[in-house]
Amino acid sequence: MGYLPTDPANFASEAIDGFAAAYPRHVRRIDGGVMRLAPIPSDQVGVVVGGGSGHYPAFAGLVGRGLAAGAVCGNIFASPSAGQVVRVGSAVERGAGLLLTFGNYAGDVLHFTLGAERLRRQGIDVRIVTVTDDIASAPIDQQELRRGIAGGLAVYKVAGAAAEAGLPLDEVERLARKANGRTRSLGVAFSGCTLPGADQPLFEVPSGRMAIGMGLHGEPGLSEGPLTEAGPLAALLVERLLAERPADVPEDQQRLVVLVNGLGCFKYEELFVLFGAVNRELQGRGVVMADCECGELVTSLDMAGVSLSFFWLDGELEGFWNAAADSAAYRRGQLAAESDGPQQPATQRPEPELPSEPPTQPAPLTPEQEALLARFKAVEEELQERVEELGGLDAVAGDGDHGLGMLRGIRGARESAIGACGRGCGPGEALMEAGEAWSDHGGGTSGALWGGALLAAGQSLAQATEIGPNDVAAAFGAALQAVIDLGQAAPGDKTMLDALQPFCLQLRADLDEGLDLAQALQNAANTSLAAATATADLLPQRGRARPHGQRSLGHPDPGAMSLAYCLLAASAGYVGLHGVADPAQAS
Ligand code: ADP
Ligand code: MG
Repeated sequence: MGYLPTDPANFASEAIDGFAAAYPRHVRRIDGGVMRLAPIPSDQVGVVVGGGSGHYPAFAGLVGRGLAAGAVCGNIFASPSAGQVVRVGSAVERGAGLLLTFGNYAGDVLHFTLGAERLRRQGIDVRIVTVTDDIASAPIDQQELRRGIAGGLAVYKVAGAAAEAGLPLDEVERLARKANGRTRSLGVAFSGCTLPGADQPLFEVPSGRMAIGMGLHGEPGLSEGPLTEAGPLAALLVERLLAERPADVPEDQQRLVVLVNGLGCFKYEELFVLFGAVNRELQGRGVVMADCECGELVTSLDMAGVSLSFFWLDGELEGFWNAAADSAAYRRGQLAAESDGPQQPATQRPEPELPSEPPTQPAPLTPEQEALLARFKAVEEELQERVEELGGLDAVAGDGDHGLGMLRGIRGARESAIGACGRGCGPGEALMEAGEAWSDHGGGTSGALWGGALLAAGQSLAQATEIGPNDVAAAFGAALQAVIDLGQAAPGDKTMLDALQPFCLQLRADLDEGLDLAQALQNAANTSLAAATATADLLPQRGRARPHGQRSLGHPDPGAMSLAYCLLAASAGYVGLHGVADPAQAS
């Protein structure tokens, strides 16, 4: 895709700038995405949608009255960062809490979850509803694993209407969940899409074939078959979706919203041909088509493909689905006149724990702070050395960005830790800020996990009055728990967990044996490196590497190796948080 030469690095943000300029009656550009232009009444729940760019009208096109209050816009096909989620969330929050709703993709889940935690620490009630409508991505009994595609419109529309009606957060969340539970989609792809600046498509479908159930980013689907005419294609899609009728809907009382969605290159007349075939296919099945849409709802750049979604209505959902809405890409009905009041300023609450006024003369660093910053410096130097090695390991079965992602993460984290210490924050608070910076700068799955781990470790340390060996072990334990909670990996899944868990176990055991902290840390780091190296024998069960599992046999997991290198660098020369081995190392 792409006819105009552009800088791929700026493409997504330039597209969002231009979108906001093109729809000045609907949205305004804010840091992290867009928010609706119409004033948000106080005490209205803020519905925030979002995800990677490249899917217009999802997500920015769905921001407006009766729909989303804001959209968090990531890079092309990449999750937005937790920081973006925080910035958009605080801009649209009006005292009634936030509902974050987005497609169920690992990166989005991680970053939105971390963003939600940070917003909660500002005292905001935040709920998350992930969209899981794509029936090709997991069986019905594992619905929570399914990814989100065009059926997301039903969830965003119902949530937005419920918020506009002034319902409390509990209700907005309940209705969004209910809408998601009654929405199913299935798509087919005829050809892949090409990222801006790339000369090869991201994925391909052999010509003359169609991939049934292929995901928006080329994720494998159900099967591949020869191209068919509209009739048989409609029959196949309708058959599969009706077979998944929600359990509480009687067969002869089905009222459906039918959505036919073009993915980018499958244009309107062809969509109408398919819609006609779907309509015929539904006749005589006891199904009432209560409403419908036929057009581009969620695209995938210039991918040629189409999807069909069914949303099973009931009385209350039908009311919210039919309610008036006005966004750049979706309008219906007549909204009540807006109040004339000026745009209520966003309540951008400062994130806590930052002292409001930095001291004019920075206080000299305490030994604890110096020790912490020296560890950051050592880890950054280690990662700088390892960028290519880690990138190479990630290229075996992933996307090759792990070395650079880790370097961006540690640089952002270290800078933030230096700033925090300069303002007089203790190690716990400095680590918390470093975690936020890591997830904002590092990106990717590992960025979110490292961010969450440092945040949890910092929270744990911040509770200790004087940091001793047990507090350090507890902080590592908290980091481990955060990685498990966020990533949902199990030991043996070939992830960074396989290096972190042995580290924590060894550290605890050595401290219990009476070893001093410096020695215990060093031992544990060595154990971690051995465990990371041994992941070469494992098959990846999580993350991007999973579909290419066999290829990664014989190569260790990049995230496990980088973690072990960081732990080794951080523990080398460790003499406790009350002193530094070599003060010259401190930054
Ligand atoms: P991305 O996969 O988004 O490109 P990176 O390349 O930076 O992110 O990081 C990949 C590493 O992240 C993997 O090698 C693995 O160690 C780790 N990882 C991926 N998914 C998970 C998960 N669910 N839990 C724990 N670690 C994970
Ligand atoms: Mg990667």
